[in-house]
Amino acid sequence: MDHITNHRSTAELQAADAAHHLHPFSDTAALNAKGARVITRANGVMLHDSDGIEILDAMAGLWCVNIGYGRHELADVAARQMRELPYYNTFFGTSHPQVIKLAEKVAQLTPGDLNRTFFASSGSEANDTNIRLVRHYWASLGKPSKTVIISRKNAYHGSAMGSASLGGMAAMHAQGGLPIPDITHIDQPFWYTEGGDMSPDEFGLKAAQALEAEIERLGVDNVAAFIAEPVQGAGGVIIPPATYWPEIQRICDAHEILLIADEVICGFGRTGNWFGSETYNIRPDIITIAKGLSSGYQPIAGSVLSEKVATVFAENAGEFAHGYTYSGHPVAAAVALENIRILEEENVVETVRDDTGPYLGKLWGQLIDHPLIGEARHIGMMGALEMTPDKSARAPFAEPGKVGQICRDHCFANGLIMRNTGDKMVISPPLVITRSEIDMLIERAVKSLDQTLADAKAQGLMVAGTR
Ligand SMILES: *Cc1c(COP(=O)(O)O)cnc(C)c1O
Repeated sequence: MDHITNHRSTAELQAADAAHHLHPFSDTAALNAKGARVITRANGVMLHDSDGIEILDAMAGLWCVNIGYGRHELADVAARQMRELPYYNTFFGTSHPQVIKLAEKVAQLTPGDLNRTFFASSGSEANDTNIRLVRHYWASLGKPSKTVIISRKNAYHGSAMGSASLGGMAAMHAQGGLPIPDITHIDQPFWYTEGGDMSPDEFGLKAAQALEAEIERLGVDNVAAFIAEPVQGAGGVIIPPATYWPEIQRICDAHEILLIADEVICGFGRTGNWFGSETYNIRPDIITIAKGLSSGYQPIAGSVLSEKVATVFAENAGEFAHGYTYSGHPVAAAVALENIRILEEENVVETVRDDTGPYLGKLWGQLIDHPLIGEARHIGMMGALEMTPDKSARAPFAEPGKVGQICRDHCFANGLIMRNTGDKMVISPPLVITRSEIDMLIERAVKSLDQTLADAKAQGLMVAGTR
C-alpha cells in the first residue's frame, strides 16, 4: 500500500497546527494548550494517529463515513473522473453525465415522488438553498407573504448564516447576528429532559402540537415551511416518541405547510432504512442530503424536491437566481455514485436494519444498568447515553458538561471516539461495523464509563442540579 508519508513528529505537527490553523467549533486557547490529536490514516472503522495508535471511530468522522474508511474503489473513480472531466458547471444551459446519473439515482432511492435534486457541496449550503427555495416557491404561487420557516430548539441544520438560523443552537445564535429574519423555533421532542411526568407518547403529541400553535400564532398566510431532522443528530441523538411524526405530518397537511426533512445524518442508511423518512413514515416535500451521500469521501449535498415543489419550479418560477460553483461537481458526483453502488451491492443498509443495528441496540440498551446512565437509547446505527447523578429523577449534574468531557477524554485514551454533547455520550459508527467491532466498542465504552464514574465521585461531581 502506498502511503502519503508524514516525516514530521507529532510535536512539530501540533505546533504548526496551533500557529496557523483555526479549528471549527473549538476554543482555540484550550485546544492549543493541549495540542490537536493528528489523524494520519484510516481503514474500515479504525483511525490511526501520528503516534501510530489505533482508535475505533464510533462517530464515522462527523456522522458521515457510512461505508467506512479505505475503500479504494472511490479513489479510483475520483482519479478517473479527474482525468476525464475534472470540473464543469451546471449553470447556463449545460450538464454532464455524472450529475445526470446521480440525480437519477437519488430520485430512484428516495421515497415517494422526491424526484429532482438541486446540488450543493455541504449540508449547510443545501439548507440555505431550502430557505430561498421554499420562499420562492410560495412567491411563485402568488403568496409572497408565506416566508416564515418554523424549526426547533436544539436542531442542527448547518453553520452558514441561513442554515445556522434554521438550527436552534443557542450558542451559535449568540455569535454573528443570528437568526436571520422570519425563522422561529418550537420546543424539541426530547422526552428525557422535557417530558416530566408525561408518558413518552403523551409528550410526543404535545411537542408536535406546538407546531400547530406556532402556525396559528404566526398566521398560516405567513408560514412557508417546517424543517426538522427525523432524529436530531448533533443535538444528542434525540429519538422522537412514536406519536410525534404522525402528528407533525397531520399538521403540515392540514395547514398546507411545506415539510422539509433534514436527512443529512439520517439519509443513506443511518436509521436502518435508506432514509429516516421511511423509518418514521414521513412524507416530506423536500429533503436535505449530504454526509452519507458520499460517505464523506467528497463534499457533496443536495435538496431533493417532491413533484409538487418541482412542478412549480418547472412551470411557474422563472429563473431561480441561486447556485454554487460546485453544484453537482463531477468528481464528487462520481464518488457519490460509487458510494451508493457499494451500499446497494453489499446490502449495507439491510445489514444495519436486520443484523448489526439490532445487535448494537441489545448491547447498548444493557448500558442502562451502569450506575452513571439514566437512559440508553438507540435507532439503527446511532445511539446516546444520558449520564446522570440520579437515575430515578433523570437529574442533570449540578455542574453540566464536566462529566461529559471527562468521559470523552477517557474514551479517547481507551481507543474509542465517542462524542459528548454536554453530559450525553453519542455514537454513530460506520454502517459497515461488524459484530466483533461492536463488542470492542461496548467494551471500551464500559471501561471509559467506569473510569468516568470513579473520577466524578473523586471530584465531587455526582451532585444533582435542576433543569
Ligand atoms: C452536519 C449537518 C448539517 C450541515 O452539513 P455540513 O456539510 O456540515 O454543512 C445539516 N444538517 C444536519 C442534520 C447535519 O447533521
